[in-house]
Parts: sequence; structure tokens; C-alpha cells
Amino acid sequence: MPEPPFQLVDGFGRLHDSLRISVTDRCNIRCSYCMPEKDVHFFDRSEVLSFEEIERFARIAVSLGVNKLRLTGGEPLVRKDLPVLVSKLAALEGVKDLALTTNGVLLAEQARALYDAGLRRLNIHLDTLDRQRFLEITRRDELHRVLAGIDAALACGFGPIKINAVAVKGLVEPDIVPLARFGRERGIEIRYIEFMPLDAQGLWDRGRVLVAAEILRMLSEGIGPLEVVPDPDPRAPALEYRFADGIGGVGFIASVSRPFCLNCNRIRITSDGMLRYCLFALEETDVKSLLRGGASDEEIRRLVGQVVSAKWLGHEINTAKFVAPPRPMYSIGG
Ligand code: SF4
Repeated sequence: MPEPPFQLVDGFGRLHDSLRISVTDRCNIRCSYCMPEKDVHFFDRSEVLSFEEIERFARIAVSLGVNKLRLTGGEPLVRKDLPVLVSKLAALEGVKDLALTTNGVLLAEQARALYDAGLRRLNIHLDTLDRQRFLEITRRDELHRVLAGIDAALACGFGPIKINAVAVKGLVEPDIVPLARFGRERGIEIRYIEFMPLDAQGLWDRGRVLVAAEILRMLSEGIGPLEVVPDPDPRAPALEYRFADGIGGVGFIASVSRPFCLNCNRIRITSDGMLRYCLFALEETDVKSLLRGGASDEEIRRLVGQVVSAKWLGHEINTAKFVAPPRPMYSIGG
């Protein structure tokens, strides 16, 4: 039996050093492009990995060269005592970057505890600054709490803070420029994310994707010229731009119009313990039964190596072959 790898390199030579950990599939809002308003099935608590299991898997991943960890959901802040997990992961030797993606609704209450536990980087999901449109998109009247969460995070000293804005055409055009202004005033980068075919109801269609190029045009007309940020990290998913006037910048996760799979460095573990080599993967590997079934760390390392070496080139959204993954975004994690 070959020695488990010490680096996670796939068949295309891509080095994987980033692990996204979904700590729950539950969420406290209901974004219309993500999940239905009612009758959403969530995993039973017994199906969800414990903090100890997540920590063990993260430690194994770090021993395989992973040094970036991102906590996601559903909405991670609905998971009770999350700062306990944050401090476990922050203490892992070899972790260089620990980040979290949240919808911000519970952030004002939890920012201090998360910061004290060792978290420093935050991505906050916010598509609009308009109360009515927030209500229309999320089916919850919680914009004020998200804004309070952003202020609390700034006050704690989190940095960098980025705002993730999902750009659904026909829904958020009025918000593109106001969000960028909001970010410029606070030193927060706005990340515009192209709408991806990962929603639970199968509502996605190409006509509803507000592409990066279109958003760039709106920002240049609405605020001013932008320039590409030189020498960005080639494996980071975002296209980075800065305003020519020197005040702030924006990023684009252009999965549909400018896929970045050739530089992918990410693997994911779902809250119910399934290892996925890609957000759009049609297959996944059960790690939970090994974690709970007495498998050794070596066996799990070997399995992770096998999963990565079998990774496909990337999503096929722009091909006739594309098949949406059977698992929706909220149960995979961003
Ligand atoms: S779609 Fe899959 S392969 Fe492409 S960048 Fe995302 S996770 Fe990586």
C-alpha cells in the first residue's frame, strides 16, 4: 500500500492547500436563489460532525499540506459554541489562514467571542443595502442586524473583511454601485459573486447571471475607472480590481463567465462528513464513517489523497454536459 501523500496534488498538477469546512447546513435566513422558503430538510444533529471530529479531520488535512481553513454553512453562526471550534482550529500548527463566511445576522452578538478565539478574516454575505429588497431576497427583515454585525466586526479589528454579494440579474442591479460605495467608505472589499447553478429549487439559468464584465461597466460609470490589481495570488478565486482614485477595490468570483478551475486549490468537507473535491462534484466520499468507525489517521490521509488525485478538471457549467450537483449550496458550503 503506497505511503499516504505529504501534499495533495491532483492529476492536473494542482496543489490543494485550502479546506472549506461546513459546520452546519442550517440557516437563519432563506435566500430565494438558495433554498425554498418552507419545508427545507436539514440534517439531524447526530448526522453532523462534532467539533472533535472536525478538528481531527482538519489536523489530518493540515498534515497533508493544507494551511488555509474556511468555516462555512448553511450559516455557521447558528452552530452553538462556534468559538470553541474556532479556538481548536486556530491552535492547529500549520494553519496560516483561518476565515469564516457568514450572513452576518448573528455577528454583532458573536464578533468579540470569535475574535478572541483567534478568527481574523470574515466574508459577510450581503446583496443589498435596501431594506425592502433584503426582505424580498432573504424573506427575513434582518438588514439592520447585518449592518450592526459589520460595525461590530470592524470595531473588533477583524481584517480583511469582505462582503460577498450574489449578483442575480433582474434583482440586484440597483445595489451594485451603492454596495461599492459602502465598501469604499469602510475599507471593505465588495466581492460580486456570479449566480451559480447550485440552488435547491433549480431556478438557475444563464439569463439570470449578472456577469463580472457587466458589473465592472456599471461601477466604472457609477463611481469611476477601475484597474486590475497586479500580481494577485493566481490560486485565489477572485479577480481583483481597485478604483483608480485609490479608494478601495472590488473582487469578482466569476465562476460562470471566467471559470478559475485551472488554479483550484480547494477541497470541502460537508457538515455531515462528506469529502468533496469540487463545489460542483457529482460524487463525494464518506469520511464520517471512518472518523466514527475506528479508522486510523493514516487511513484517512490515504483516502483524502485518493479523492484529490481523482479530481476532475473543473465544473462544466459552460458545456452541454453540465449536470447540477444533487446537493444544494446550503448543504455544501461556499
Ligand atoms: S468549480 Fe470546482 S474545480 Fe472549479 S474552482 Fe470551484 S471547486 Fe475548484
